[in-house]
Amino acid sequence: MIRFESVTKRYPDGTLAVDSLDLQAPTGKITVFVGPSGCGKTTSLRMINRMIIPTSGRIWLDDIDTAKIKPAKLRRGIGYVIQQAGLFPHRTVVENVATVPVLLGESRRDARRRALEVLDRVGLPAELSERYPAQLSGGQQQRVGVARALAADPPVMLMDEPFSAVDPVVRAQLQDEFLRLQGELGKTIVFVTHDIDEAIKLGDQVAVMRVGGRLAQLASPAELLSR
Ligand code: ADP
Ligand code: ADP
Repeated sequence: MIRFESVTKRYPDGTLAVDSLDLQAPTGKITVFVGPSGCGKTTSLRMINRMIIPTSGRIWLDDIDTAKIKPAKLRRGIGYVIQQAGLFPHRTVVENVATVPVLLGESRRDARRRALEVLDRVGLPAELSERYPAQLSGGQQQRVGVARALAADPPVMLMDEPFSAVDPVVRAQLQDEFLRLQGELGKTIVFVTHDIDEAIKLGDQVAVMRVGGRLAQLASPAELLSR
């Protein structure tokens, strides 16, 4: 479980990005942050792995205060997927995915085998594994981004608009496959989107934020649909 306890982020220029956020993201579930541009979604997400340091408050991973763990150790257990897949352009698909296991000390051979397995799980055709990222479509690049995050088998995944840069048909496909995969893997996922339909489709719970960084409501998709 991830727990925000009265978390506030004020940037050095004075912008109040997140204001006194209290929230729990349950283990094995998808929690979606949704709201208009600038409401503090990305800031909230990046405070979980301490890419951004809260101004005040605490974020707990189970019973551990994330401020008390070395960032490198914290991030080992937290996968991170962003909108532009952020792949290494000069490494092939399989090398991109194998990078993290190699950094974690796996042999190249094992890391490569694992990378190919994970790529298969996210539905990337095997014949694309030796291509470079620029030779893939946007949707395929996102699959590789998800695979790279999954390769270290982290219990927690942070996903920031991972499907927003692709066209609607591919997006719907990626969403469906993501739900299928999550059904098997049961990760603790925090997912950011500005798209309320995506939030309702993917979320076990939906945190609706409003500009000024405040939580407007925390609801189930069914509750959001019934209003
Ligand atoms: P969202 O992800 O919902 O679009 P962000 O978390 O990116 O929102 O931003 C929340 C607010 O903080 C916005 O007003 C944004 O302009 C501001 N902000 C984000 N990053 C910085 C920064 N490094 N310095 C100052 N203000 C920032
Ligand atoms: P999408 O509709 O998913 O964005 P694209 O139109 O970008 O797909 O690509 C369609 C197909 O062409 C994909 O199978 C992709 O692998 C292939 N492709 C795209 N760019 C290149 C490239 N530079 N070299 C080789 N194949 C490519």
